[in-house]
Amino acid sequence: MKNILVLAEIDGDELRPEFWELATVAKALSASVSCGIGVVVIGAHTDAVLEEVTKTDADTVHVLQDDRLADPWPEAHAAALIQLCRELAPQIVILPRTVLGAEMAARLAVHNRWQLLQDVTQVEVSSDGSLKAVRPVSGGAVMATIHAGTGPCVVVPRPRAFAAAVATSGGACTTVRHAFEPPSLRTSCGEIKRVAVEGMSVDRARVVISGGGGLGGPEPFALLRQIADLVGGAVGASRVAVDSGWVPPSLQVGLTGKTIAPDVYLAVGISGAIQHLVGCSSAPLIVAVNSDESAPIFGISNYGVVGDWKEVMPAFLERLMMEERVT
Ligand SMILES: Cc1cc2nc3c(=O)[nH]c(=O)nc-3n(C[C@H](O)[C@H](O)[C@H](O)COP(=O)(O)OP(=O)(O)OC[C@H]3O[C@@H](n4cnc5c(N)ncnc54)[C@H](O)[C@@H]3O)c2cc1C
Repeated sequence: MKNILVLAEIDGDELRPEFWELATVAKALSASVSCGIGVVVIGAHTDAVLEEVTKTDADTVHVLQDDRLADPWPEAHAAALIQLCRELAPQIVILPRTVLGAEMAARLAVHNRWQLLQDVTQVEVSSDGSLKAVRPVSGGAVMATIHAGTGPCVVVPRPRAFAAAVATSGGACTTVRHAFEPPSLRTSCGEIKRVAVEGMSVDRARVVISGGGGLGGPEPFALLRQIADLVGGAVGASRVAVDSGWVPPSLQVGLTGKTIAPDVYLAVGISGAIQHLVGCSSAPLIVAVNSDESAPIFGISNYGVVGDWKEVMPAFLERLMMEERVT
């Protein structure tokens, strides 16, 4: 029987939340091609996530547990996945677009000469059984429809492009353990340093307030942080703010930063370059504050304030604090 494999990436000893979006994609594809779903768990400490990943429509969970897979070492993790694919001969392999997942996807596709559909926002099975996917190209300026051939495909969904699957009651899933038999690896994994992020992370926040080059320095980010804390949101940034050293790279939204889809995205002093918009344009409500009425950000924002952030943002904060006092 053909099958679909879905990677359940572990971060530390926790399941990465992207898994639930991949589960949605797997379920939709499995209904079209009538094949089973296998979840792949690779790591040194997999037990913590095993119960969680069975709460999907998967038939089988394939576990590859080995101390050499403790760190997010792409070559080793890709080798583990390649080994599993050799044993299981999947038709479709779905991985998250994380730093580790995207590299594993590329390594798997190149190693097996399989087709790679990266960053897809839609994917479906055509009448001839091949996959058809939509993805942004040219920095998000164009959406391209990609027709894959009929062979095996590696699919990497765009974060937040698919709704997260709701966990089932689980239980009907078989767990199969595999021994890791790595080939000789050419890279090694150095020290892993976790960077502490102040406040909530932009990845999953429902409200994100991002600052850009128009803020002129790092200090105004404290004001954005104050506002974010009041509304239970996170602070993000454009690449100009990151490249200028005002905020850490973990805050960057965009093509070379994070792709997010909060309920509300507030862009302050951000021009709206396509490389920035590609990371935030899925937000259903975008609000922009910019002193230049012709700034491209107004082209995609639902609400815009043409004005100097130095006047607009302190007034907004004051209003929020007033509301807080009233409630
Ligand atoms: C390959 C590639 C990848 C890239 N990846 C990313 C990415 O991931 N994320 C990203 O953001 N960019 C990315 N960029 C850079 C992108 O092209 C833009 O240069 C960047 O987004 C501009 O940032 P900005 O709008 O904050 O700054 P600026 O271009 O400096 O714009 C500042 C804005 O602030 C406004 N402003 C100025 N003063 C005030 C004020 N007092 N009050 C209110 N508004 C004010 C200005 O009118 C202007 O619109 C990438 C570029 C390339 C080539």
